[in-house]
Amino acid sequence: MMKKIDAHAHVGYFGGWADVGYTDDQMVAEMDRYDIETSVVSYMDNAVVEKAVQRFPGRFVGLTWANPYDGDKAVEAVVRDVREYGFKGIKLHPLLNAFTANDAVVHPLMETAAQMDLPVFIHSGHPPFSLPHSIIQLADDFPNVRIVMVHMGHGNGIYIQAAIDLSKKRDNVFLETSGMPMHTKIREAYNTVGSDRVFWGSDAPFHHYRVEMLRTEVCGLPESALEKIFYGNIKTFLSL
Ligand SMILES: [Zn+2]
Repeated sequence: MMKKIDAHAHVGYFGGWADVGYTDDQMVAEMDRYDIETSVVSYMDNAVVEKAVQRFPGRFVGLTWANPYDGDKAVEAVVRDVREYGFKGIKLHPLLNAFTANDAVVHPLMETAAQMDLPVFIHSGHPPFSLPHSIIQLADDFPNVRIVMVHMGHGNGIYIQAAIDLSKKRDNVFLETSGMPMHTKIREAYNTVGSDRVFWGSDAPFHHYRVEMLRTEVCGLPESALEKIFYGNIKTFLSL
């Protein structure tokens, strides 16, 4: 099996409608099963990720889950997680925290990201909060911040196409594949947005590793391209 880095996953339990979860121990066991060297993880309670990163050095890379409505506290959590726990970026979830991706409430976190040279991973694909055009407007407002559009539009073909088309002319936008159903669009993104700008992710525990891997494996790209999508691109992007 090809070596992998999972660019998008979550440790912790998601209740409510989802009712899915992995502890850090469970996730590492699954990562071993599927040759996943490292997982980039986030969770609403950052303490869960801080603990996972400390327990399994090198296996987990943390992103600080930042709710823009928390104001200074959100910014402080980012600074602390980077300095004390070696976190590598910020996770924004416009749907779960109910803000529009390009709202001014996000700007203090984006300014922090710019100052600290941190990438910002943003959930995409759910109206009205996380549509590709809103994320692209944020990217245009902060051209020196690297933005990862997680799920590259997610389950809706129109949003997926918008994610690809709008990313082409923005050097600071990157696409992540999890939960996006069309294998052909992984190939299209690689060929038209950029060979360095597509990352494979699982969104575990929401999706099964094997299902997420298979879609990328069959997308029609040569082995050398798959190696970049599964491993090389995110390794370079996060300096792992
Ligand atoms: Zn996710």
